[in-house]
Amino acid sequence: MLTHTLGFPRMGSRRELKTILEAYWKGTATLESLQADGRVLRRLHWQLQRRAGIDLVPVGDFSFYDHMLDMIAMVGAVPERFRREGEQADLDTRFFMARGVRGNASAPAMEMTKWFNTNYHYIVPEFFPKQQFRLSSSDLFDHLEEAIQAGFPAKPVLPGPFTFLALGKETVEGFDRWQHLDALVSVYEAILTRLATCCQWIQLDEPILASDLPRAARAEFTAVYKRLQNAANPARILVATYFGGLEENLELALDLPVTGLHVDLVSAPDQLPALLSQWPTSRYLSLGLVDGRNVWRTDLDQAREVAEYASQWIGEEQVMLGTSCSLLHVPVDLELEHELDPEIFNWLAFARQKCGELNLLRSALAGEPVAAPFEENRQALAARAGSKRVRRQSVRHQMEALTPEISVRQETSDQRRIAQSERFNLPLLPTTTIGSFPQTPEIRAVRHRFRQGHITAEEYQQTIKEYICQVIDFQEESGLDVFVHGEFERTDMVEYFAEHLEGFCFTRHGWVQSYGSRCVKPPVLYGDVERPHPISVQWTQYAQSLTGKPVKGMLTGPVTLLNWSFVRDDQPRRETCLQLALAMRAEVLDLEEAGIGIIQVDEAALREGLPLRREQWRDSLSWAVDAFRLTTSGVRKHTQIHTHMCYSDFNHIVEWLAFMDADVISIEASRSHMELLQAFQNVRYPNDIGPGIWDIHSPRIPSVEEISSLLCRALQILPAERLWVNPDCGLKTRTWPEVRASIHNMVSAATAMRSAL
Ligand code: GLN
Ligand code: ZN
Repeated sequence: MLTHTLGFPRMGSRRELKTILEAYWKGTATLESLQADGRVLRRLHWQLQRRAGIDLVPVGDFSFYDHMLDMIAMVGAVPERFRREGEQADLDTRFFMARGVRGNASAPAMEMTKWFNTNYHYIVPEFFPKQQFRLSSSDLFDHLEEAIQAGFPAKPVLPGPFTFLALGKETVEGFDRWQHLDALVSVYEAILTRLATCCQWIQLDEPILASDLPRAARAEFTAVYKRLQNAANPARILVATYFGGLEENLELALDLPVTGLHVDLVSAPDQLPALLSQWPTSRYLSLGLVDGRNVWRTDLDQAREVAEYASQWIGEEQVMLGTSCSLLHVPVDLELEHELDPEIFNWLAFARQKCGELNLLRSALAGEPVAAPFEENRQALAARAGSKRVRRQSVRHQMEALTPEISVRQETSDQRRIAQSERFNLPLLPTTTIGSFPQTPEIRAVRHRFRQGHITAEEYQQTIKEYICQVIDFQEESGLDVFVHGEFERTDMVEYFAEHLEGFCFTRHGWVQSYGSRCVKPPVLYGDVERPHPISVQWTQYAQSLTGKPVKGMLTGPVTLLNWSFVRDDQPRRETCLQLALAMRAEVLDLEEAGIGIIQVDEAALREGLPLRREQWRDSLSWAVDAFRLTTSGVRKHTQIHTHMCYSDFNHIVEWLAFMDADVISIEASRSHMELLQAFQNVRYPNDIGPGIWDIHSPRIPSVEEISSLLCRALQILPAERLWVNPDCGLKTRTWPEVRASIHNMVSAATAMRSAL
């Protein structure tokens, strides 16, 4: 029984890739040293997997930026604006595509978006008529050669043609990218034929089979895979699906004329019986039993049972053991976490440990002696399940006492509007920001010094207060209408709150790639969540004491706390989310009690984490929205609730946003030229909206004219009484000169528009 991983993290256990990449982009490292470091990391990761007992190591999972970008390069789909005459799609071209800069040249970077329901971002392939595809990069072959030379049994991994096309976009209106399928498949054939000369297995990732498969794709799937398997012969193709079940595509997947199919039994365990009962003879089934998305140890007894059951049905020679998806989404090595609480340490497994689990499973199925490690696993799981740290009686009681009424605000939005307008007396088109102000190197340094124990808590607090003072003065001078305290005390909108809640713990090196060289270190949510004391109240209250203008309290919502953490898997996510909501509800009420009249609950990640298939969204959205309502519904009518979401794809969810019943919602809108407001108009969204009129993801300063024209657009769609003026998102990544100039222009545009109305 072969063991394999679908992919391994690329960054290195100490984020070595990030360091060298950023040095290269800065010009302090050469291309040669970058390439050399890449080779070292690849080799190290293969070694690590082999030593842990993995039979087939993945090749092609490594990337200097993104594997979809590499695929774009490999098939020669480099958009015109990045092309240079006669050039291969080399590394510099790829960085140009991803980052929009190359030396002095610049061009709009390619779009980046989230990889299915994960927090990883891929580069979106661009398709247009008359596009030519040809094999344009030899990286994959070189890496394969490298692995073979070093003696590793290698399995090349690449995105399959259907997923590749489905995740792309047309750059010319009216064009249908599926017209390119045939030409693309020809390039894939060439790739596979070349790979097949030196490997036994080739993994083609088609997670699109676990998603809403476009009709155009469905009709072609079987024929295309027939071509691909022919091209790959005698090598075997393994079609990998993950992040959900096959469901309506089950038969299609079973009919594929390839040698193997991988299914994700962590996210969709229920699909197994149907698969087995129809399993074609002599086909390999790869069981995704070890979670590639989360950090908990696998229940080895249970996994073994599943693998044995599958073996009985289809024969053990036909079974492979794998991770549910690529391990890209988990940190590399738990062994580095010396500071982690030993009790919790014992419950976890990172990429390296997960490889070890696969090996143990293989041994068990082969009848090798595994009693001791299996017993150890059993005890760790039992310790976790029975731990006092996981369950808090007080939280359980609160959860049991929840009734539907508690999540409903007492007054209608019209009644609230009247009470709030009396209280705040805001002008038409009120101006505000989304919360954070620049996190300068000085602020980071102060925080670092505090954490290292070089300055006292009092000194730290004093410094933060000075920053708050300055930002209040700045807002006063700028003429903004609703202020914020600036979020200077926060490292990150999730980590900050998680650090102040019971039920979370934190790793030192638990980084996962977000995009390019950027990584995030999600907190680990292991137990019942409780708020031992107020978190943000003192800062907000202090800011409010400095001004007569309303200061907006700034919180992170329960769904975002959930989606940006590694979440316990021993109870439904819904329940964990409601616990988070209860904790944040207490914070909302304390803010109100402290005299804060406007409270913003950010739900930047509301849309993430939804199942891949749209028909399953309803259930997830309904508890997500419930959790938001539970968080915010306890306040009185004259307390104004805001929410913020920083993405612009509101398709299919505007009704849900209305159901959240926030008095004001601010959204990202500047890049889409307010087009998305239409969706709000279509569902007659009843409350106030602040469409972002300044793209804070770019250092560009928007002119007064530009902002005015966006405001005019917005006013064509929404009544002035319901429109707010604000940037797309928080300003923490911007510099002060940019912020000063842009806020100045924003307030000028709003003031001018106001008097013209
Ligand atoms: N209040 C947060 C900030 O301004 C919101 C960030 C976000 O939505 N990503 O930084
Ligand atoms: Zn945002």
